[in-house]
Amino acid sequence: MNKIAIIGTGYVGLVTGAGMAEFGNKVICADIDEKKINNLNLDIIPIYEPGLEEIISRNRKNNRLSFSSNVKESILQSDVIVIAVGTPEGEDGQANMSFVFSAAETIADNLNNYKLVVTKSTVPIGSGRRITKLINSKVNNSKLFDYVSNPEFLREGSALKDFLWPDRVIIGTDCEKAYEIMRNVYRPLYINKNPITYTSIETAEMIKYASNSFLALKISYINEIANLCETVGADVHKVANAMGQDGRISDKFLHPGPGFGGSCFPKDLEALLSISKNNNVKMKTVEAAIIANNNQKKRMVEKLIDLVDGDLKNKKIAILGLSFKANTDDVRESSSIYMINSIIKKGGIVNAYDPIANKEMYKVIKNIQYCDNLYDAVNEVDAVVVMTEWNEFRSLDLNRIKKKMRGNIFLDTRNIISMDDLFSVGFVYDNVGRIKK
Ligand code: NAD
Repeated sequence: MNKIAIIGTGYVGLVTGAGMAEFGNKVICADIDEKKINNLNLDIIPIYEPGLEEIISRNRKNNRLSFSSNVKESILQSDVIVIAVGTPEGEDGQANMSFVFSAAETIADNLNNYKLVVTKSTVPIGSGRRITKLINSKVNNSKLFDYVSNPEFLREGSALKDFLWPDRVIIGTDCEKAYEIMRNVYRPLYINKNPITYTSIETAEMIKYASNSFLALKISYINEIANLCETVGADVHKVANAMGQDGRISDKFLHPGPGFGGSCFPKDLEALLSISKNNNVKMKTVEAAIIANNNQKKRMVEKLIDLVDGDLKNKKIAILGLSFKANTDDVRESSSIYMINSIIKKGGIVNAYDPIANKEMYKVIKNIQYCDNLYDAVNEVDAVVVMTEWNEFRSLDLNRIKKKMRGNIFLDTRNIISMDDLFSVGFVYDNVGRIKK
């Protein structure tokens, strides 16, 4: 049985730890955040992720999964050490690698026997070599460890499913022995089909950035098509649908909306752009995806301003949905942050409601009214804006909402409400890229 320590118990570390335990490994999830670890030891899960609580509880009972704030001890007791700390956007768009290097130093200080060092965090191309060099400079014995790049592709909201039934697992290493250990960690996955791709370290690191940037590009592309649809009188849903039927294009990530957010796409695109600049290679497509995305966020605010006759001063707006997408409580880089801040800046007042993410958004924005249910949020407001595609918002009681409001404005930035219904209830409304009545 592989003994694995995961360093960093955030969205990726926790899901990876639970998933690897489910695969039959013995896993310690370690984090320097003591409060988080204490909570996990009390069965309090720090993030919202469907199915996660159950799998954690089952694997804890089977003694395959444990939590510790003693990172050193977790490393000492394990043979495979997975780095899953954050790599947020740093200066000039570059990935901030300080958490990764700090984790690598702790590993170097605690190499009591041969260990495999695995990076799951998204790190710039070349980081694997830097991490290896850093550890080597401290231990002076290159035989004590091998290095693997094993980027993660899970999506928040369906993270467990993505981890347990992945489209692909990338194992980037120079070392055959390391590859075999990793194959063993992921053993249940290749009993029926083999999703594992063996690459060099640099190729593995590049695969992650290339994949995220491509998906972000696709979103920015369909958003710009949606914007053009509005002007030329075409319906973006029909366009996207028909495009998606083409197997070369596929229907995934062709949903127009308020611009992408989240903890990955915005920072990973900036990081890739920064890598390309440092290497004197132009990446105009990535640059364009970032610009188009910023424009899309602005465009949503402009739509709202147009709907309220050009002035948000003293207008009360209900924001429905705060997380960057449905089924997660993650609000990092969420488009609703830009929307809320713009409304406040222009003198408006915000009532906010999210089925799960109120608490997370409160850490980012304090001076708005958070509501426990959506009908409280729409009370006496001039306008309602849907920012996240939660299922709860797909079947709104529009009559009840309209009666509670003082105005009649509705902006659906996710295109999840029927335009016929909005029209028949008497809303003045807008959405993204569809022909209005
Ligand atoms: P996160 O911020 O949710 O979690 C990071 C955790 O690491 C925190 O709990 C923090 O306390 C801990 N930490 C920081 N330094 C530490 C140290 N020295 N020792 C132990 N713990 C430490 O981050 P995340 O969203 O899980 O992302 C982690 C990495 O995975 C990033 O590189 C990200 O780009 C990548 N990734 C994220 C996703 C996603 O959907 N969130 C998907 C794929 C890849």
